Amino acid sequence: MIDKVLKANEDFTKEFEPKKMSHMPQKKLSIVTCMDTRLTGFLEPALGIERGDAKIIKNAGNTVAGRDVIRSVAASIFALGVEEVMVIGHTNCGMANVDPEKLKTSMEEKGIDPEEIAKVDIKEWIGAIDGEESNVIQVVEEIKSSPLIPDDVPIHGLIIDIESGELKVLVDDR
Ligand SMILES: [Zn+2]
Repeated sequence: MIDKVLKANEDFTKEFEPKKMSHMPQKKLSIVTCMDTRLTGFLEPALGIERGDAKIIKNAGNTVAGRDVIRSVAASIFALGVEEVMVIGHTNCGMANVDPEKLKTSMEEKGIDPEEIAKVDIKEWIGAIDGEESNVIQVVEEIKSSPLIPDDVPIHGLIIDIESGELKVLVDDR
């Protein structure tokens, strides 16, 4: 795959006309969303967002497991001028269907020490979610209740239909 990517990059840079852009998000917006492959090239046009408009923070299942999402949201607010945050989950999320037992087997098959696996709550560690909608609502709550996130920044929660692109508002923080 790396060969294909490097070749594609060569073709891309030949055609591409670079332009100077600010690193500040022009729409003063941060989005916390899932790493799902089907959102690539789909979420942005479905929201009317273009290159340079928004900070997009992605991980498996758009959760705040660990501290990195709060850190990135805080950085976008305090260092990059973000004034509004959206947590956007999607239907048919792979992280809602994670089977912890299968995951353990897969890790062991790849040579991960079973003793290390036994040290963690695998479901919590991997950030498996119980339901796409309830997860968004919970993540909004967790970001809002962080003492490091200011109260005057709205944190909305939404879910996008992975097939039609239709958005549904779950938490309207206007
Ligand atoms: Zn997902």
